[in-house]
Parts: sequence; C-alpha cells; structure tokens
Amino acid sequence: MLKTENISIIVKEQNKYFLLGDTQKVKFRQQQLQQLKQLIVKKESEIVKALNKDLGKCQFESYLSEIRIIKKEIDNMINNLRKWVKPCYVATPIEQVPGTAFIQPQPKGVVLIISPWNYPFSLAIMPLIGAIAAGNCAIIKPSELTPHTSQVLVKIINNHFDNNYVKVIEGGKETSQQLLKEKFDHIFFTGSPDLGKIVMEAAAKQLIPVTLELGGKSPCIVDKKINIKETAKRIVWGKFLNAGQSCIAPDYLLVNQQIKLQLLEAIKKAIKEFYGENPFQSSDYGRIINKHHFKRLSTLLTSGQIIVGGQVIPEENYISPTIIDQVSSEFPIMQDEIFGPILPILDYDKIEEAIAFINQRPNPLAIYLFSNDKKQQKKVLENTLSGGVGINDTVMQYGVLTLPFGGVGKSGMGSYHGKASFDTFSHYKSVLKRSFWLETNLRFPPYQGKLKWIKRLLG
Ligand code: NAD
Repeated sequence: MLKTENISIIVKEQNKYFLLGDTQKVKFRQQQLQQLKQLIVKKESEIVKALNKDLGKCQFESYLSEIRIIKKEIDNMINNLRKWVKPCYVATPIEQVPGTAFIQPQPKGVVLIISPWNYPFSLAIMPLIGAIAAGNCAIIKPSELTPHTSQVLVKIINNHFDNNYVKVIEGGKETSQQLLKEKFDHIFFTGSPDLGKIVMEAAAKQLIPVTLELGGKSPCIVDKKINIKETAKRIVWGKFLNAGQSCIAPDYLLVNQQIKLQLLEAIKKAIKEFYGENPFQSSDYGRIINKHHFKRLSTLLTSGQIIVGGQVIPEENYISPTIIDQVSSEFPIMQDEIFGPILPILDYDKIEEAIAFINQRPNPLAIYLFSNDKKQQKKVLENTLSGGVGINDTVMQYGVLTLPFGGVGKSGMGSYHGKASFDTFSHYKSVLKRSFWLETNLRFPPYQGKLKWIKRLLG
C-alpha cells in the first residue's frame, strides 16, 4: 500500500498535469484511447490468463464480457469525440440580442475510479475510457480480491502512460479510504450498495460529485406468452455466466403458475446442455471469488427445495448451478442480492402481483420480462422503476453501448457507456457571449420611466 503522502502527491501531480491543458485537446484524447486499445489487444492473452486465475473465467466469457466490449467502447469514443466536444448552441432571448448562448462540455479535472472484482478488467477500464474521452486525468483503484487482473492493469496503465495523467493504485479498504480523503473532481464507484454509502458520505464532505454503479436484486418475470425453450436458455446463460457473479444477473424468477413446470423442465435441460452432467468439470463454468463469498452463498442453500444442483466443493470455491423452488419472500435468499449461482423461483397468478412484489422492494438495477404480449410489456415498463429493462433476454442490454447503463434509487445513481460516459465525466458549462453593439440602456438605473417600455417591448 502506498503511504498517505504518496497518494496526496500523486493527486497533486495529476492536478498539475491537468492544468497543463494537454488533456483538453481532442487529438490527445484520441491518441491515448488508441494506445489503450493497442495495449489491450497486445496483452489479450495475459488478461485472459489473469481472469482465469482470479475467477476461473473461461476465455470465451473473458473475451466477450471483458475485452471485446472495451474495444468497441474505445472505437465508439474515438469516432464520436469530435461531435460530442462541440458546443451546443441554444436560443437567446430577445433582450440579450445581439448575443449567443451555448453549452460547452469541459473536463472536470482529476477523477477517481474505484472498481470491483466481478468483471475486474472491464469495470476498471470502461469508466477510464469515459474519463479520458472527456479530457480528465484519472486514478483507478481496482479490487484487491482479483490481484492477477490488478497486476495486468498496472502493467498496461502504469508502464505505458504518464502516471501524472492516469495511474492505477492497488490496495484494499485502507487505500480506498486514503483516496477518499483527497479532493477529486468526480468519483466513479462500482460495488455494493453498502460501500456506495461509504463512498457517498466521504464525497459529500468535500462536495465531490459521484456516480454510483451499485447492485441489488434484479427480478426476472416469466409470463405465459413465450418461447419456453429460448426463455430457459437465456435465463440460464444470464444467471450462470461468471458463476452468477454479475450485477445484472437475474437474481430470482417470478414465473406465471401456468407455465412453471414446463419452464423448470426447460431450465434443467438448458443447464445440462450448457455445462454437462457435472458442471464442475466444465471449463465454461466459473468459481466463487473467495471463501467469504463461498460461505455466504452456501448458507443460502438451506432455504427452500433444491430442484437442480446444490453441490459444493469448498476447497475449490465451487457451487454448482442451483435452482431452488418453494421459496418464501421471508427467506434469507430473498433479502439481499445473491451474487452467485443460485436461482430461487417464486410464482404468480396475475402480472399485477409480480409488479407489486417488485415495487415493495428497492429499485432494481435491471428488470427482465419474458413475454410476447405487448400489453404485459407496457404494464411492466410503465409500472416499475429500475436502472434498465431487458425484454425477452437477460444481461444483453449491457452490450448496447448506445444505452446509458446505471441504477436508480438503491441500485445506484448516474450512468455511463458511450455518450453517457462522456457526459458523466464532463461538466456542461453554460456560456452567454454578448456583443458591445446595440445597448438600449433600458436595464440600467435610474429606472424611472423604463418599466412601461420593458412591459411594452419585452412583456
Ligand atoms: P468489492 O469488494 O470489490 O468492492 C468494490 C471496491 O470498493 C473495491 O475496489 C474495494 O477495494 C473498495 N472498497 C472496499 N472497502 C471500501 C471502503 N470502506 N470504502 C471505499 N471503498 C472500499 O466489490 P463488491 O462491493 O463486493 O462488489 C459487488 C457488488 O458490486 C454487487 O452488489 C454488485 O451488484 C455490484 N456491482 C455493480 C455493478 C454495476 O455496474 N452497477 C457492476 C459490478 C458489480
């Protein structure tokens, strides 16, 4: 861990660097993004190896969810940056003519990015892309729970970029707390709602704006009018990807009673099809991050009736893909975000019951609805509030980089990806530019006799 004074020095140096003005230049930002992309391409196999060591992630998932998406985001930024940095001209009221009014995006300064362990590469780099595109300097604090990936991040960033511009600082809770004492211009945090509160409290002391990308229980409603086989496959994929450790994984199912048995059969089949008879032997199935989370998840296996899975291998932090039926909303598994490969199933008779169930709980990061019935789709969209919604699929909305990604209420505040990232790391400055030409003097004292003219001319 770096000493307190070192952290202060790094932040000071970054502030000095920011004031040099290089980061204001669009060409500079594009070059830095291009360099980042080239390094990621060059280090792809190292990144994949590190993710495998940290999370048992397979190459396929690592490429899709941690590398490809990042390359796409960089291309998106480079291609759109010239358009996004332009001032946006707005109407000027008659009394201010001749004059022009415009909104000018401007970098905020030095930003802090604190990232979690579940997608330890992409969740550190994705916000960095936005920070660079918007013209900021940045410090990234990756999760201490994924040390191999963290080391690759250090190699990519600290060895190839000016560290007065961008830098990775490794460390755990203490390092985060030291960083949070510094005066940043924006803090971008991804992690649990409990840590989000700590970050926001620290930021509030210095009035630092925050983006909080948090988590929570994301429900998945399955209605009658569906393709059962495809629905089951899409649920199983989204839930057991990264061994269930995805912030937008379906946390629990709310299934229409009439199709519940058929859906369960299709889910069982899909699990077998994807991961074989023994998922422990599947190279496509991941592991739980550490003992603490393994133990936490293992205790959840005692609620309800396990109808698929339930196997654990403690020495390997392995929990098989598990489906639990006969679940009551009072059970521990229905209290907090599961964040692991356990899927509880509840059922409903009318869609209004499912909506009411969701609305009695904190706003989710995502809500999934499987239904081809347009009325049901409208009902769910209009009557629930969540960060995002996926209709007839799970998790895939994350890959649409033209959609802002973020939570609402307890699942977070602010958003990013694409233009939303650029906006998050920019200050939109309002500017009025007047001309010296044509001054009526109507607004200046002495006011006597002028009000009637104001009313007559301007209303
Ligand atoms: P974590 O334990 O890796 O913590 C996140 C970061 O906070 C780490 O860098 C950690 O070092 C730091 N940290 C630890 N203690 C801290 C403290 N006292 N003050 C400040 N920072 C501190 O990750 P986690 O919180 O277990 O992550 C899992 C959660 O993150 C889940 O709730 C998940 O839903 C959520 N998540 C959300 C998103 C999203 O995009 N919305 C993405 C991934 C994960």
